[in-house]
Amino acid sequence: AKDLGRNSFQLYTPAMNARSFERLSMEASLRHAVTRGEFKLVYQVKVDLDTGRMSGVEALVRWHHPEMGLVSPVDFIPLAEDMGVISDIGEWVLREACKQCKHWHDLGLPPVRIAVNVSALQFKETRVPEVVASALRETGLPPQYLELELTETVLMQRVDEVVVVLKELRAMGIRISIDDFGTGYSSLSYLKRMPIDALKVDRSFVNDIFDENDKVTEEGAEIVSTIISLAHNLKLKAIAEGVETAAQALFLHSKGCDEVQGFLISRPVSGEDLISLFDRNLLP
Ligand code: C2E
Ligand code: CA
Ligand code: CA
Ligand code: CA
Repeated sequence: AKDLGRNSFQLYTPAMNARSFERLSMEASLRHAVTRGEFKLVYQVKVDLDTGRMSGVEALVRWHHPEMGLVSPVDFIPLAEDMGVISDIGEWVLREACKQCKHWHDLGLPPVRIAVNVSALQFKETRVPEVVASALRETGLPPQYLELELTETVLMQRVDEVVVVLKELRAMGIRISIDDFGTGYSSLSYLKRMPIDALKVDRSFVNDIFDENDKVTEEGAEIVSTIISLAHNLKLKAIAEGVETAAQALFLHSKGCDEVQGFLISRPVSGEDLISLFDRNLLP
């Protein structure tokens, strides 16, 4: 029993035991997952809505646990943050993504940008410009092909310091986009001060453009249009994620959205499988 104070206590249920056991065993193995080579990256294309061509790719991490099998980043990224190992994982992801992107360039494929997710905690814990510089140096990827995806949580912490770091990154030639835009609490006055390149319209908003009968919803459509206009008024690109239907892509194009990403175009695939998606029209 766990003591919760003078007059109350709670019993651990078998379900809770199972859950904390799972967490403990996941913690033990997560600590060694990088050195044991258990992570790999998959890549999801971003498409330019005007040309239908691949404009970039986003790197997404996967953990192949020896016993549990494939563990979703949604489950282990928060754990990695709690355990203080997110920066190790993040640095591995950055290096691997740069290496893969340089490899595509070397194969003579049309050069695309690679986007890497950086967790808010990683951004706080490490000198990101130095980590980025060493990844670029080691892999030989030119900086204009690297993009970092940051969440609004990053922008909210110590604004002046964040602005300095973002300026440093952009001075190196790296692009910055704000991920899951609209789901956090960033204020518009902060946003205006941020040296960034793009807003990524969160999947939940894209999902709300149409109702279950495929009819445009007034509020859902208005929110997405507003985010796209906001991006453009701030001289930023608008990228929509989680695009699953042709109707969503058409709507987004009609509102001037620049790029889309989602199952409509492609699920995240291995670096090898991505090769077939270069150099052709990817829009339905
Ligand atoms: P995110 O950055 O918003 O990534 C998009 C997620 O949506 C990915 O899930 C992707 O597979 C999924 N997705 C893409 N298109 C569609 C679609 O059309 N429909 C639906 N329903 N889903 C779609 P994934 O790969 O499981 O990643 C989940 C989250 O984990 C990411 O959300 C990101 O926050 C985090 N994450 C993934 N890789 C990394 C990483 O290397 N570093 C860090 N710090 N976080 C990562
Ligand atoms: Ca992302
Ligand atoms: Ca996102
Ligand atoms: Ca999202």
